[in-house]
Amino acid sequence: MRSIECYFRKKLKNSRFIVICEPYSNFVDGQKQASADYYQGRKFVIYHREDLPEKDLRVYIAHEVGHLFLLAELDISKKDKRQKMYTGTTEPLSSIFGVLAISEKSDFYDNYDVTDRSYETWQEILDSFIRLQNNR
Ligand SMILES: [Zn+2]
Repeated sequence: MRSIECYFRKKLKNSRFIVICEPYSNFVDGQKQASADYYQGRKFVIYHREDLPEKDLRVYIAHEVGHLFLLAELDISKKDKRQKMYTGTTEPLSSIFGVLAISEKSDFYDNYDVTDRSYETWQEILDSFIRLQNNR
């Protein structure tokens, strides 16, 4: 998450841009498990259900950070600064970003024997993202 924050800072030429992750102040049944808001050029806030298991939370965060990456890559130079995060192909592309990010992190945690953060197989990672889409 911090590396994409730094990446976005560079793209925006704003060293004060931040990515924040915080629980919903009021979670109600039927609400998305996690979502994000982009505050034009200032911050990106990922909101999530407070009681999510850590492994699920990491999948949701990876997906939402994918949206931020897409903003940085695809939309940052648009004249119309009202960014649309959830349009077109951004959902599957954000999940692809998330799968790659989680896979990378899973390999990292394998080396540190943090078993509750690593995945045995690709299928396990893909299943997590499919479950994410189904829980929306
Ligand atoms: Zn999404």
